[in-house]
Order: sequence, then structure tokens, then C-alpha cells
Amino acid sequence: MQGDAYLKCIDTHCGLEYPIKSTNVECEKGHLLDVKYKNKPSDSLKEIFYQRRNSQGNIFNESGVWRFRELLNFCQIDTENIEECSKHLVSLDGAEGRQSKPYQMSKAAEFIGISNDKLWLQPEGYNPSGSFKDNGMASAVTHAKMVGAKKIVCASTGNTSASAGMFAANEGIHCDVYIPSGQIAPGKLSQAYQFGAQIIEVDGNFDDALKQSLDDAKNYNGYTVNSVNPFRIEGQKTIPYRALEYLKWESPDWIVYPGGALGNTSSCGKALMELYQWGWIKKIPRIAVINSEGASTLSDLYNGKFEGEELRWNKGNTNTELITRYYDHLDKEGIRPKTKATAIQIGRPANILKGLRALEFTNGVVTTVSDSEMLDGMSVVGLNGFDCEMASGASVVGIKKLINEEIIKKDDVVVGILTGRQKDAMLPVEYHSNPKNKFAIPPKN
Ligand SMILES: [Zn+2]
Repeated sequence: MQGDAYLKCIDTHCGLEYPIKSTNVECEKGHLLDVKYKNKPSDSLKEIFYQRRNSQGNIFNESGVWRFRELLNFCQIDTENIEECSKHLVSLDGAEGRQSKPYQMSKAAEFIGISNDKLWLQPEGYNPSGSFKDNGMASAVTHAKMVGAKKIVCASTGNTSASAGMFAANEGIHCDVYIPSGQIAPGKLSQAYQFGAQIIEVDGNFDDALKQSLDDAKNYNGYTVNSVNPFRIEGQKTIPYRALEYLKWESPDWIVYPGGALGNTSSCGKALMELYQWGWIKKIPRIAVINSEGASTLSDLYNGKFEGEELRWNKGNTNTELITRYYDHLDKEGIRPKTKATAIQIGRPANILKGLRALEFTNGVVTTVSDSEMLDGMSVVGLNGFDCEMASGASVVGIKKLINEEIIKKDDVVVGILTGRQKDAMLPVEYHSNPKNKFAIPPKN
């Protein structure tokens, strides 16, 4: 397997390549990188993945990430050799991705206005640190270990820091977490403290914290684990893998994600591009990205709400100057991303180009929902006995909105990703205390 995996710049005019052990998160011209594999995995692996669900005590089969290890084998190891797996692959005892698969939630389906057998919601909050981030963090920290990193570094609005801190603690390496001062749900940060991470407060918003963390990683020998790290994207591919496997590799019509830094959109797009290229799937599901109204960079640009141009990947010829002008406009007007759904309160999505590529490949759509809509979405998921964070509510109400607009058809099969568990304990308390809210069940005496 040696020599199979390498890094390649995503810019179609640049295409610089790097060895798999490189820790660059971008090429020397500043473009994002992809992990690439020379060999085409045989679709007989589908049967092996299925058999691994009976893990027989092997944590790498139990793991919802490493069960698919042949499809992200950047370590280039013999994937059947458990000793090699143990030496290289980072896992929280098989817990990452173990419990996440699509579920039917009848009350959510009724609220959305779709038949119950057409709607699947996949709770990624049932990961060990409580969010989808554990999928990509398992693979990123595996790469960190592969290159001998002593310290991992991230900027975080909460979920990333919890996941990074958890894996770092389990592997015995240091973890620095950059946060925007005063903007993080305390419950989210408490996990990073609990796992022994070093918190570094930065004046400004998430985008400022990310910039400083990237600079410090470069200058002080840290290993960046934000989603600009291409190895994060590899682990996050297993989110659609699990959905597809559960649906017997029959593609749904839609996969719907809340949109923040666009790591999920990017990884879903990469997973689908690879599966389609390998002949594992015949139909390409469409991706829908749901932004918050208060942090709507992708929606604004994609839907032509800024300067009238609909921003597209355009086969690699993206009008990046339009993006620059949009960011300059935000700065000039003093517009900061603002939503109570802190997980997607991001003004400058680091993976915007990979996200656009994913949208182009899947004929995707982008829309926005309000904070109060997201709270309804979050709450109706709760009424099915599942727990999710406010940003995850975006998937639910986003599907509802797109059905009302007849973009998603009523007989389409839809998979919505619920990205994380509730970590802001006061949000449901406040929601249910106000009888005006759609699903509120106020306390009584
Ligand atoms: Zn490049």
C-alpha cells in the first residue's frame, strides 16, 4: 500500500502535490489540499464493512469511522492486521461514529410535512464528545500521531475543542484551544477544560481565533486540527458512508447539513465524488446546506445576493475575488456573524471552495433559516426522544423550507444530519418556558 496516498492542491490550475506526511494545510500558493488515493477500492468491501458490524471485540470494527478504514487508508497500513491498526489508528475505544446511523423520527416528519418512511435523521451528537467532530478528529489525530506531533491546535466555537481535547487526552498529547472571548456556550467549553486542554482567548470572533491559531501553529510547531486540515475531511466522509450503508448503498435524493465552516459539506462531497468514481453508487444525492440567517455567507454568495453574481466552483474557476469583496464588505459595514446557534456562527467558512466543489458535483442548494425556526427544529427532534443542539435544528427546518418551496419533492428520500448534542442547557429551558413557542411545554404547578 505504500505510495498509494498523497496530498494534492484542489486548485485545478495549480495541482501541486505533497507527500502524505506533509503537515501543510494549504499548498505554497495558499490553496486547500485533498488527500488522494491512487488505488480504487473494490466494492466487495461493502460486504466486509457489513460483517464488521459484528465487531468480535475489535475496536476498529466497532468504530463507525475505522470500520470503513480501507476508504481512508492514508496511513497505508494492512487494514486487516489489528496490531498495525492499533499502532497507527487513533480511536476512543471504538466509540467514534459507533452509534450514529439514520433514524426515523415520526414527529419531525409530521412537522416537516413528509412521509415518515422518506425522512431519515442521523444524530451525530451520539459521538463520545457529543458531536460529529469526532469522526474527523479521529483521522486528523491519527495523522498528527503519524507525523510525530507533540501538540495539536484548534480554534473552536465549542464542539471542535471538546473533540480535540478528548482525543489529545486519550493519546497523551497537548492541545491548545483558541476561542473568541465570551462567545462560547459554557457547557461546550467545559469539556475542553475537563480534558485538560489549554484555552487561549482571542479578542474578536471565530474567524479571528482561527487566524491566530493557524499563525501560532505555524510559528510554534503545532499541528492544526481545524477542518482546513485535509485529514479531518477524510474521517468526516464516514458520516455519509454510514447513511449510505444503512440505506443499502441506494443513494437518497438529498443529504442535508447545517452550514458553518463547510467541513461537512466538503467531506460529504468528497465522499460522494469518490464513491461515484469507483462505481459504488449510481446516483448522486443532492446536498442542501442550511445557513443561519445571521451567518449566511455561503447562501448570500451562492444565491447571488451579493453583487448579483451566483458564486460557483465553475470547474475550478471560482470567482475568488467576489469572495474577497464580500468579506471586505462585511468588514467595512462592521457585520459580524450573529446567531444563537454558535456551532454555525461563522462568517468566513474556511472550506468555502471545497464546499462549492461539493455543491457543483451534487447539484446542491443553499438556503437560510432563522434562530426561532432552528429552535423549533431542535425541539421537535427532542419530542422523538433524540437530543440535538440548536444548529442541528437547521437541518430539520431547512428540509421543511425546501419542501414548501418544492425544491425537495414530497416523495424524495431525505437524510438530514443532526450535527451535535445539546450543550447549552439553558436553550431548551428558555424555549419551553415561553408558551408562544410552537412545541413548548411550559412548567406548571
Ligand atoms: Zn495550489
